Amino acid sequence: MGNHVCLVLKSKHYTAKDLIETAISRIESKEKKKMNLVWIEAAGCSGNIISLLNGCAPNVTYFLTDLVNLKYNNSLMRAQGDEAEEQLIKTLDTEFILIVDGAISTKDNGIYNIVGYYKGRSITGMEEVKRVAEKAKYILTVGTCASYGGISAAKPNPSGCISAADYIKKELNRDVIRLPGCPAHPDWIMGTIANLILFEDIKLDEDRRPITFYGVTIHDICPRRSFFEKRIFAKSVGETTCMFKLGCRGPVTKTDCSIRKWNDYVNWPIGDNTPCIGCAQKGFPDAMEPFINF
Ligand code: SF4
Repeated sequence: MGNHVCLVLKSKHYTAKDLIETAISRIESKEKKKMNLVWIEAAGCSGNIISLLNGCAPNVTYFLTDLVNLKYNNSLMRAQGDEAEEQLIKTLDTEFILIVDGAISTKDNGIYNIVGYYKGRSITGMEEVKRVAEKAKYILTVGTCASYGGISAAKPNPSGCISAADYIKKELNRDVIRLPGCPAHPDWIMGTIANLILFEDIKLDEDRRPITFYGVTIHDICPRRSFFEKRIFAKSVGETTCMFKLGCRGPVTKTDCSIRKWNDYVNWPIGDNTPCIGCAQKGFPDAMEPFINF
C-alpha cells in the first residue's frame, strides 16, 4: 500500500490510513465525536468528489458512515431540492466542517455559478459559500480551483473566478486549510479530516497546506531523481528517464504523488511516462504551460 508518508505528531508516526482508523476507533469508544460535513461545489468540474468516491483506505462508504456525517452536498443532493437546503440550514447551528470545491465566480454578482435553489430562488456559489463559511468550525478548500483559482480562474476567466480561499479571506477574514490538486487525492481529504477530529489542529506550511501531504516537492522524492542528478534526460514522452527537459513541473510542485500514487495506489503521471504538469501548485494552469516542451 502506498500511503506510507509519515507525519510526526505528538511523538507518534501516523499515515493517512492510521489517522483515519485511529479517529474512527476513538469515535467508536466515544473519546471523539463524528463531525458533520457540508460540501459545497462552486465553480468546479466535480473532479474532487469523484476523486473522493475513489478512496480505498478506507473506502468512501466507511468514511461517510464512520468518520463524518455528510449533511449536504449540492452535487449529490440536487434531486432532494428544498429538503436538502433545509437540512443544510439546520446543520449551520451545529459544529461542522465545510469543504469548498471549485472557485468562486464573482462577475455580475456570481450569477454564472448557481449551486442550488430554495423556494424557487436560485442561490449563487458566492452567497452559499459566504453564508456557510461564516458558521463552519473548519474550512477546507479542496482542489486547485478552490485553493488557488485553478482552471476556473485561468485566462481569460470570463466569469471572474477567484479562489474560495481568497474569497473567504476577503469576505469573512477567515483562513482555510488548502488541499490543492486537480483533483485532490482521497487520502489528503480523509486524512486531513481525521487529523482535525483527533487533534483539533493540524500542522500547516506557510501556504496553509497540511505538511503531511504537501511537505516535499515531487522532485524531492521522485524515483527518477538519480537520472536528474546524472543529467540523463528524456528526449520524448514515453522514455523512462528524467523528464525535466520535457517540461516536468515536479521541481516546483509540492505533493506526495510520487510515493502515494493514485487509483488504489497503482500509478501516477511520471510512473506512466508523462511529465508532472504542476496541477497542485499555485498558478496552475497558466503558470505551468506549456505542459510539455517538444
Ligand atoms: S521526472 Fe520530474 S520530478 Fe522526476 S526527477 Fe525528473 S524533473 Fe524531477
